[in-house]
Amino acid sequence: MSHIDSIRKDFPILKREVNGKPLVYLDNAATSQTPQQVIDVIVDYYQNYNANIHRGVHALSQEATDKYEQARIKIQQHFNAKKTHEIIFTSGTTHSINIVANGFTSLIKKGDEILVSAMEHHSNIVPWQMLCERTGAILKVIPMSQEGELLMNVYDDLLCDKTKLVFCNHISNALGTINPIEDIIEKAHAVGAAVLIDGAQAAPHIVADVQKLDVDFYTVSAHKICGPTGIGMLYGKEEWLGKLPPYQGGGEMIAEVTFEKTTYADLPHKFEAGTPNICGGIAFGAALDYMNEIGFDAIAAYEHELLEYATQKLLEVDGLKIYGTAKNKTSVISFNINGIHPYDIGTILDKLGIAVRTGHHCAQPIMDFYKIPGTVRASFSFYNTMEEVDVLVEAIKRAKNMLQ
Ligand code: PMP
Repeated sequence: MSHIDSIRKDFPILKREVNGKPLVYLDNAATSQTPQQVIDVIVDYYQNYNANIHRGVHALSQEATDKYEQARIKIQQHFNAKKTHEIIFTSGTTHSINIVANGFTSLIKKGDEILVSAMEHHSNIVPWQMLCERTGAILKVIPMSQEGELLMNVYDDLLCDKTKLVFCNHISNALGTINPIEDIIEKAHAVGAAVLIDGAQAAPHIVADVQKLDVDFYTVSAHKICGPTGIGMLYGKEEWLGKLPPYQGGGEMIAEVTFEKTTYADLPHKFEAGTPNICGGIAFGAALDYMNEIGFDAIAAYEHELLEYATQKLLEVDGLKIYGTAKNKTSVISFNINGIHPYDIGTILDKLGIAVRTGHHCAQPIMDFYKIPGTVRASFSFYNTMEEVDVLVEAIKRAKNMLQ
């Protein structure tokens, strides 16, 4: 990226040191860092117009309501949703998925089948298992290859008239695989099944066009795209959101309440019980503005260069094995070094100022598939540099010499 130096200046945290070394932040798949432009929006909210929204007649409340609803429109436009009320603010992907899984309780019956991919994050497994326990539906798994690609021929065989729902991530957090979601959605629709795509890892790299994809539900966490934690979105087609019952009861989500009966508010408020994360929603919009200013095409192209360079350099390390070698993948590299526990490598890298993630990455079935306890995961963002890749590789060599 030609203006990488000026981009890095936007992120105050990148100037800090960890253990006396310059921070090399390579845990972007867990959470991204926050640029000053988004921090300023958060500070501005609390300094100038902090107020509860929607029902207030006073100026601050109206200002906060306008900014919050403007953010919803920004998100709608970014993901090309047809209607603004198809964007539900949630606390993040986990919350979004739980809204849908809970809502399907009354729409699913015993013996119905739910398909889930073999490379899901726990948050796209556990809510469906709970749904199956409640309803007697059956969870079936679309398997994957050693390279970390879904076996689409098996998917074809699994789909049948009993299939009611299909869940898959757009991009795997543990392997970086970009899944063929267009195909997955089209084939699921052909048997009448609804599809939820977990876009938590895709949103930082790709702009999903929900209308073009014709996806029924799409989920995002703002903290993966330079926004704050505790805010995200559930996109749902109006027809589906209309059918699903509310997830939580409380203020904001009602039309009228008496002790005899409550009627629910229209979309999107039906799914937004209680005082929302107002500042977070506004900052979510600001984060999208920030990333769009840089441009998702430029981001994807640069991250691909980082991926290629890092893959090549890491494979030069004797005994290093990369898990997830799909043809179509993003800038996530999961690896292990012969005979060394991933945690030990991560601990030494931390001492050298390098932040990576170690463990099962909330995707234990993937680790079971490879018969490993976990991996070291380096995940790169558009603000990382080739020099940081070199620092990582040298540090890994050092760790390896110390541990072997
Ligand atoms: N799905 C995927 C693919 C993820 O990477 C994550 C976050 N690690 C989640 C779901 C859950 O997101 P959150 O914790 O923000 O709800």
